[in-house]
Amino acid sequence: MADKRDYYEVLGVDKNADEATLKKAYRELAKKYHPDVNPGDKEAEAKFKEASEAYAVLSDADKRAKYDQFGHAAFENGGSGGFDFSGMDFGDIFGSFGFGDIFGDLFGGGGGRYRSSNAGPMKGANIRTSVRLTFEEAVFGCEKEIEVNVKEDCKSCKGTGAKAGTKPEECKTCGGKGQVVRTRQSVLGMMRSVEACPDCHGTGKIIREKCPDCRGTGYIPIKKRYSVTVPAGIDNGQAINMSGLGEPGTMGGPRGDLRVEAIVGRHPIFQRDGFNIYSTVPISYAIAALGGSVVVDTVDGKVIYDVKPGTRSDTQIRLKGKGVPSWRNKDTRGDHYITLEIQTPDKLSNEAKELLRKFDELTGDSLHAAERVERNGGGSPQTPKKKKKLF
Ligand SMILES: [Zn+2]
Ligand SMILES: [Zn+2]
Repeated sequence: MADKRDYYEVLGVDKNADEATLKKAYRELAKKYHPDVNPGDKEAEAKFKEASEAYAVLSDADKRAKYDQFGHAAFENGGSGGFDFSGMDFGDIFGSFGFGDIFGDLFGGGGGRYRSSNAGPMKGANIRTSVRLTFEEAVFGCEKEIEVNVKEDCKSCKGTGAKAGTKPEECKTCGGKGQVVRTRQSVLGMMRSVEACPDCHGTGKIIREKCPDCRGTGYIPIKKRYSVTVPAGIDNGQAINMSGLGEPGTMGGPRGDLRVEAIVGRHPIFQRDGFNIYSTVPISYAIAALGGSVVVDTVDGKVIYDVKPGTRSDTQIRLKGKGVPSWRNKDTRGDHYITLEIQTPDKLSNEAKELLRKFDELTGDSLHAAERVERNGGGSPQTPKKKKKLF
């Protein structure tokens, strides 16, 4: 404690700072160094604790007066009563000092997650995995096999973790409750906090002789195969929830869920946006001009589309109900939009070239227009200069 920084210096305020200024300064620092913002950053954590300690003292009129008079020595009573946050976890800071309300509006209900853990029945963790699907499998749905690592009750000990022939005993420290109430003396008075029992780690039971098969955990990790029903219309990144197939709960809590995320592969022709499908259909210049039938690929197979005469390039056509089925409503489907793209031929036979030239002449065409530009506008003819008038 010898090299502790001055509390006012820590908060960056002067000695006459009022309550609002202190609070504002602390909020700024807390925002910057909060463990939620800097996960795993030890230096930020230390700064956060330092600022919290400074604020805890200076925001209390009595303690501030003592501090102003005696400095850090005011709280160095020797022994465990000393006022020092550095050895505490965030649960202590938030739970015991009522700082939660400061963070309530800062981090959206902030203080709550730092309260001491409840040792009652808890739902197990979710298991996340993924399944690869082709474009069509996602559109129409399918059945897929997946393999996941899960914990199963150990058969040798029936999940108790105790060696065959023995039983877990009730933990004497917590009386089987799994949690203990701790009190400690500080300059702020007696502090009470509920914590997971250190002897049984919140289970309420002590295992004298561990089951050799599961090493006392009560669980055996195994690979399990499941068949997943992928609903029609699922999109990339969406997950199928398989309730109760996750990790086992604690203290008799239910299992978590198994969440299977869909990873949908690309399609060589189709793009998807929500429930609509998009693709480009090349058509010849003659079909665009004269009209005619083209074959269009859809997820339902090939369909014939009649192109209207005089169709421009990049015209978009809607094929109603040829899109992706909605998983929200089984009876509805999105649409398929095709973009008609006129193809410019790049390899032509001499005969085709001749016919195109003829066509050009007949239709009053760009080539002749270019010639007219050449004759009239090209190389701007000289015009006689007029005499410059002075006035
Ligand atoms: Zn076992
Ligand atoms: Zn215990």
